[in-house]
Amino acid sequence: MLLSNFKKNVFVIFIIIFSLMTLHALHVYASLNKDGFIVLIYHEILDKGIQSQNKYQHAYDDFIAQIDYLKQQRYRTILPSQLGDVSVSKDNEKIIMLTFDDGTPGHYSNAYPYLRHHGYNAIFFIISNYVDRKYSLSKEQIQEMSQNGMEIGSHTANHYLLTSLERDQILNELTNSKETLTAVLGKEVTSFAPPGGWYNNKIIEMSKELGYRSFFSCDIGVNDNDPKLFIFNRVEVLGDMSYEDFQKLLDPSSLYFYRYKLVQSYKFLLVSVVGIENYRKIGEFKNKFKYATL
Ligand SMILES: [Zn+2]
Repeated sequence: MLLSNFKKNVFVIFIIIFSLMTLHALHVYASLNKDGFIVLIYHEILDKGIQSQNKYQHAYDDFIAQIDYLKQQRYRTILPSQLGDVSVSKDNEKIIMLTFDDGTPGHYSNAYPYLRHHGYNAIFFIISNYVDRKYSLSKEQIQEMSQNGMEIGSHTANHYLLTSLERDQILNELTNSKETLTAVLGKEVTSFAPPGGWYNNKIIEMSKELGYRSFFSCDIGVNDNDPKLFIFNRVEVLGDMSYEDFQKLLDPSSLYFYRYKLVQSYKFLLVSVVGIENYRKIGEFKNKFKYATL
């Protein structure tokens, strides 16, 4: 008798969770905007011949094939300062923004030359206290990239998770990185990307007050070609993504894009329930398990 009551309760809870998840999935589908341009996120671009060990590393040949595909498909890259100046339909060209997070050496040695080869620009989000360190870009490298049409943005001073910090610490991360990079480049740094894509309204307001003009989240979605746009949605290219999936990622009306967005929205729900620190612990555990056999 007790057992059957228990089974009944489990069944009811299962039905409630399933219904809520379905409603949420429908809501995400309805709110997904399909018109607008995409901003891609890349992380480490590996040297030729080196295999990717995790989703934040891109094999060189995969990266080259993806950039070639963009060129083939007549995509034109733009920077935030060019918003509104360009027409999406001009000469059948589509617009896209490319962003690279963390300032790893392959951004200079592998990504930057190939982008230049195609006349492409991109935003490189740099952790200001990491500049000139091992496995990071040097001052001279980011200066050269900036002088040759690439934009340098701030990715904080120390890559701390901003939502876990006190107000003063957030202020330091936003201010120090902006000032340091602006001094290195001799050009004001106006774009910002929070580490891991974690942010809240307080961080948005602070970055506006400090003079940032573009805020790059990791929220999956498209963007309006509007010069007043402040928060940019971005879509992450994963290191283990196939060439076919990369193509689907560029199409916001594809089922693939929707699924990607839905998984992220469930992730955000989970974070709001268990908290960011516990969520990160689950992620670390999952990664250990996933790559243990590699
Ligand atoms: Zn980062």
